[in-house]
Amino acid sequence: MIVSFNPATEETLASFEPHEGSAIESRLAAAHRAQRAWAATALPDRLALLRRVAARLRDQKASLGLTIALEMGKPLVEAVGEVEKCAWNFDYYAEAAPAMLADEVVASSASDSRIVRDPLGLVLAVMPWNYPLWQVMRAAAPVLAAGNGLVLKHASNVPQCALAIEAVFRDAGAPEGLVTTLLVGAAQVPALIADERIAAVTFTGSTPAGRSIAAAAGQALKKQVLELGGSDPFIVLADADLETAAAVGVKARFQNTGQSCIAAKRFIVEQSVADRFVEAFCEQARRLVVGDPLAAGTTQGAMARANLRDDLHAQVQASLNEGATLCLGGRPVPGRGVFYEPTVLDHVKPAMTAAREETFGPAAAIVRVRDAGEAVAVANGTPFGLGAALWTRDLDRARTLARQVEAGAVFVNGLVASDPRLPFGGIKASGYGRELGRLGLHEFTNAKTVWTG
Ligand code: NDP
Repeated sequence: MIVSFNPATEETLASFEPHEGSAIESRLAAAHRAQRAWAATALPDRLALLRRVAARLRDQKASLGLTIALEMGKPLVEAVGEVEKCAWNFDYYAEAAPAMLADEVVASSASDSRIVRDPLGLVLAVMPWNYPLWQVMRAAAPVLAAGNGLVLKHASNVPQCALAIEAVFRDAGAPEGLVTTLLVGAAQVPALIADERIAAVTFTGSTPAGRSIAAAAGQALKKQVLELGGSDPFIVLADADLETAAAVGVKARFQNTGQSCIAAKRFIVEQSVADRFVEAFCEQARRLVVGDPLAAGTTQGAMARANLRDDLHAQVQASLNEGATLCLGGRPVPGRGVFYEPTVLDHVKPAMTAAREETFGPAAAIVRVRDAGEAVAVANGTPFGLGAALWTRDLDRARTLARQVEAGAVFVNGLVASDPRLPFGGIKASGYGRELGRLGLHEFTNAKTVWTG
């Protein structure tokens, strides 16, 4: 069974029979038929659907937000914000896609030579639970705008979100099957990737699962975009606005209960200002209100699953045993629900667990460094390369340092966040390919050269 479970109350919300055999087959067949027709649908008609989806999301933001909050534990206000962001993404692509998909004329020896953008076909989206609407809708808008279809294999702990997504498209008038949810476990993914009706794969989730998917997609020679884990550095140089950096840093680490690939995980702070930064950071973190995701005023909800909390607690304890010091928190909240105290570890060294591994929950690691050079070296001293933040008042220096940081994005004096207008993705063990923006739309197109003599 695929079980929907409320991590804040530890109650089962619903159970679903997984799709098997003939159910998978008929859904894939319908998705394939729908995509063929969709590819031949005029662009303005495709984009009209995107606008209707955006409107539907806005109309239903309260109920969709509630489904998210109940199923994975984030505060309701954050969940509703997530739905609004999905609507923005659909409106954005409805507006921007014509220019992105326009033919590109290239001068050559031909009388006319150009690059045209054709859809690839059905894109399999294997998605995680942490932003259960955004991760899917972020992928879906450009995929559909380009003329592809989407088959969703969502995380097994968010089946209600998965079904709600399918319903949003149905209610918005999408052709039957164009966006199809398969309620299946991870074990089904290799067979789906191998299926000849699947043209490409987009995956967001952990690095180990990404390796498996890459291997299966490689074997089948299918295009893939992988957005994997991160251990984002948040570099604070001595000339930074420390109060603002601390306030944004707390948001960067603790929003979504710390369960974000682009959460700031390692706070790399110049020694000369470290005491002041840590004091301001802990002061802000102490104000977080942990509790019922549905209650007004809650700023940190439940973690999504008990095993994720166990993993985080083991990392915190290992780091303390290795010599880190505890400024705040450090324990599961006793009682009902999968809650964890907002936690701040100081004097973390790069070799300690909290700096070496991705921490996917509300625990910040402070690493003190001598200077900017050491800060960049520590920032880069990880297998990951997703996002990074850099805090300094010297913007010329920031531009130079930003080029030295090994990451898919560097945000100077700001919160690392995804934005439909800007490409998003990583390097190294954080994956490859880009989502969002023009690059994200182009990932699942065939850039076809058409040459006329
Ligand atoms: P996973 O990577 O295991 O799960 C994400 C998605 O991948 C789910 O749909 C899952 O399906 C599927 N999946 C898992 N293993 C495989 C596989 N071998 N082949 C194909 N698909 C697979 O993440 P978890 O939920 O277990 O979280 C564990 C860690 O992953 C976190 O602590 C964090 O480090 C990272 N993570 C990163 C995210 C990001 O945004 N980059 C998001 C979520 C997690 P099913 O649920 O059925 O197992």
